Amino acid sequence: YAKEEVNSSECENMAGRKKMSEEFEANAMDSLVDMPLATIDIKDDCGITDVPQVNLERSEENEYKDQIKKKKKKYKDYQPNYFLSIPITNKEVTKGIKILQNAVIQQDKRLAKAMTGDGSFHITLLVMKLNDDEVNIGIDALLELKPFIEEILQGKHLILPFEGVDTFRNQVGFVKLAEGDHMNPLLEIAEAAKRTFQEKGILAGESRSFKPHLTFMKLSQVPWLRKVGVKKIDPKFYEKFISHRFGEEMLHRIDLCSMLKKKQSNGYYHCESSIVIGDKNGGEPDDAELVKLSKRLVENAVLKAVQQYLEETQNKHKPGDGSTVKTEEADRNGTDNDNRK
Ligand code: AMP
Repeated sequence: YAKEEVNSSECENMAGRKKMSEEFEANAMDSLVDMPLATIDIKDDCGITDVPQVNLERSEENEYKDQIKKKKKKYKDYQPNYFLSIPITNKEVTKGIKILQNAVIQQDKRLAKAMTGDGSFHITLLVMKLNDDEVNIGIDALLELKPFIEEILQGKHLILPFEGVDTFRNQVGFVKLAEGDHMNPLLEIAEAAKRTFQEKGILAGESRSFKPHLTFMKLSQVPWLRKVGVKKIDPKFYEKFISHRFGEEMLHRIDLCSMLKKKQSNGYYHCESSIVIGDKNGGEPDDAELVKLSKRLVENAVLKAVQQYLEETQNKHKPGDGSTVKTEEADRNGTDNDNRK
């Protein structure tokens, strides 16, 4: 009987823990759906398998909470922090989006904060995770991508026409890219970008297929909206724009942007580097080329200084070559080798 009681309380604990585990998984997956790398299978890696069958003592409960925290952190580690962006700056397009945004806000003022800000309209070509040391590799990859894009475009301009509105799961509102001949080269460019970055060892891309879109609002930007009952973007908010033509953007630049760093004063993302597509820059070197060049110059200068320092200290300690005397003499005279350079 006693055993039965223990078993049934064990069962309750197990059920409780299973529920907690399921709730955690559901919550984690819920928030992950909104993350660009969400579709990477991280479940096994995080070790969420079965629920351990132990009693829920206080200390164990804390341990369990710690475990959940660690798992949450691991999920977080998969979040991409950089992306390749095609900036959308054409006045006709941005004006049309502002009108759409205002029309939505007119119907529910609470949605104002969910709107994508002026100056940051873009198409995401690729998302990736870069640590500080990998940013330079990302800059190199972006430069390497340029000739592939030129090969895909064969000297032609890539014009991107925007038409109609849709949502991802009623959570993210976006203006659609119209169907047409521009679609294939754009998909090829996205594929080339993914390949170029992945070949450099960068964790880039998503398992879901690339769906070009121009986001104009995102409910996740305003977490309190859920608490006040706004859980979905109602299709009636944008019904008047369902087949509206927003105009076109010519692909002229691709930026490597940070998702997390402070945005620029014009509202656009912080860019580590950019490449110019087509001849809009009149043969001037790309931003990415300049960044790479200046980084190389600084690296070379540091290397040279270190080399010189090493040579000088080695010479100082070499017996009988007279340099010790020379250096000491110089020291006595109050002259410094470096200053004489
Ligand atoms: P973006 O405009 O690239 O910043 O994307 C806005 C949001 O849409 C992000 O939260 C993405 O995770 C989400 N998103 C992007 N592509 C897809 C897709 N194909 N399916 C569902 N959600 C997506």
